[in-house]
Amino acid sequence: MIRITELSLPLDHPADELRQAIVKRLNISDADLLDFTVFKRSYDARKKNSVILFIYIIDLEVRDEAAVLARFADDRNVRPAPDTGYYPVGQAPAGLSERPLVVGFGPCGLFAALLLAQMGFKPIVLERGKDVRSRTKDTWALWRKKTLTPESNVQFGEGGAGLFSDGKLYSQIKDPKFYARKVMHEFVRAGAPEEIMYVSKPHIGTFRLTGVVAAMREEIIALGGEVRFQSKVTDLLIDNGQLEGVVLESGETLRSRHVVLALGHSSRDTFRMLHRQGVFIEAKPFAIGFRIEHPQGMIDQARLGKYAGHPELGAADYKLVYHAKNGRAVYSFCMCPGGTVVAATSEPGRVVTNGMSQYSRNERNANAGIVVGINPQEDFPGDALAGVELQERLESLAYELGGSDYCAPAQLVGDFIRGVSSTEFGEVEPSYKPGVRLGDLAPSLPDYAIEAIREALPAFGKQIRGFDRADAVLTGIETRTSSPVRITRDHETLQSLNLRGLYPAGEGAGYAGGILSAGVDGIKVAEALAKSMLAEAGQT
Ligand code: FAD
Repeated sequence: MIRITELSLPLDHPADELRQAIVKRLNISDADLLDFTVFKRSYDARKKNSVILFIYIIDLEVRDEAAVLARFADDRNVRPAPDTGYYPVGQAPAGLSERPLVVGFGPCGLFAALLLAQMGFKPIVLERGKDVRSRTKDTWALWRKKTLTPESNVQFGEGGAGLFSDGKLYSQIKDPKFYARKVMHEFVRAGAPEEIMYVSKPHIGTFRLTGVVAAMREEIIALGGEVRFQSKVTDLLIDNGQLEGVVLESGETLRSRHVVLALGHSSRDTFRMLHRQGVFIEAKPFAIGFRIEHPQGMIDQARLGKYAGHPELGAADYKLVYHAKNGRAVYSFCMCPGGTVVAATSEPGRVVTNGMSQYSRNERNANAGIVVGINPQEDFPGDALAGVELQERLESLAYELGGSDYCAPAQLVGDFIRGVSSTEFGEVEPSYKPGVRLGDLAPSLPDYAIEAIREALPAFGKQIRGFDRADAVLTGIETRTSSPVRITRDHETLQSLNLRGLYPAGEGAGYAGGILSAGVDGIKVAEALAKSMLAEAGQT
């Protein structure tokens, strides 16, 4: 197989032009090109007002591969294609009595369980929330009727935190073993659109993700696994530094010496339990800020120029970073083109925002977190849980500022920059449900964060015209940008540094940020766990 990189074609090129371009690039006859697939397709919008090009990476087969590679020996854009296939690390022996446990059924737990099931280990998944269907009803009850179900919401339940999301599936992790391809491949097998395999910034959107997750659960069950909802793990059974099992809230005990802990960043009661049990945990940096909303059309215009609204490009995104004079980094986070801002709390009396969209990304507003990086040394010194406590304090304050009924505090950008309360909206209507309460956001975050965001917004306005328009809306607050803790693990065995048999994983343990990287981490821990079980069964 040969890989061609940097093959560019105009945005509106007819489909058959791609084949012609490959043949021309390799200077071969059409008959010599046996097959090809698009490995990646991105676009180059730097000349947005003259021409936008698609840039392809193509994997292909030709009649005489050695001869073609020899002719292009000095061309770094024509190379042998890497093997991106996935090969399991082993197969469980028949009759294995121990079953691994997977705590949490977000993307990390989902992929850990799927891989373990595919290798024949028959995992038992324990998820504190409900299945996708019941969970969707509970989540909408907060957005529509201000009724929160603390165990079933945007953060907790089948599919994890990524279920009600933009379903962006890209990440900047190093992935030498192409695990991200395995994640995409499994999503496609479960019903996600094929294009996620090759577009440069794939996304699924909430409704599609819901069906995909349910299909993957069915596969785990068909392979002999079990998925138990409303099964919160509240304690660990430990014997002399070895994990022996877990205790559920119901009092039931499940024994296993191999447990994946894929909690997500919002399982604060479980972090506290782990800390009490003496499992090594440390505080880690995260970010705090607001969600900002603009008309999507304005973002499209700024990013895509005359190509704004082009069906091949869809709703435009952005990524912004600014270094403020007070030393703080301000950046855009989890940008959702054509989406909505959502109420993302899992706890009574707290308000926290995030963003989601559907596959079509056709809501009127673009939204993104505008957040400031914070760290334990400077901003929340104390014990391992000091970051959790800071998040709780800020989210409670946001609840009060929003009127103590799950509405969120909000302010217009112009007023925020000038330091005056907002009283009425301009053209931009905020999408947050159950609603926002206009006022002054300055008291909602520490002064250094307010100062840095005030300085950053006009600077962002220089990169995206209109970004600092006076009637853009800021909704508070964004605190759950990543986990405030790391549950430390050995980098070889992926087990907790002081509790054998515990495999901390995914976002909550501080080893992933986002759906794709959480899925990849799930694959890694499944492999590490499988190797350990195989070794114990004498099958190495
Ligand atoms: P989670 O998805 O948080 O899953 C953890 C699971 O563990 C939960 O289901 C929880 O109920 C369960 N659990 C916790 N404690 C226990 C316990 N004690 N017992 C049993 N079960 C337990 N990322 C992207 O890449 N793209 C996006 O577009 C995107 N949009 C987002 C939009 C929203 C609204 C939110 C909230 C997040 C979004 N994210 C997005 C982030 C992404 O969802 C997370 O990074 C990802 O879900 C982390 O995966 P995880 O499996 O590590 O943890």
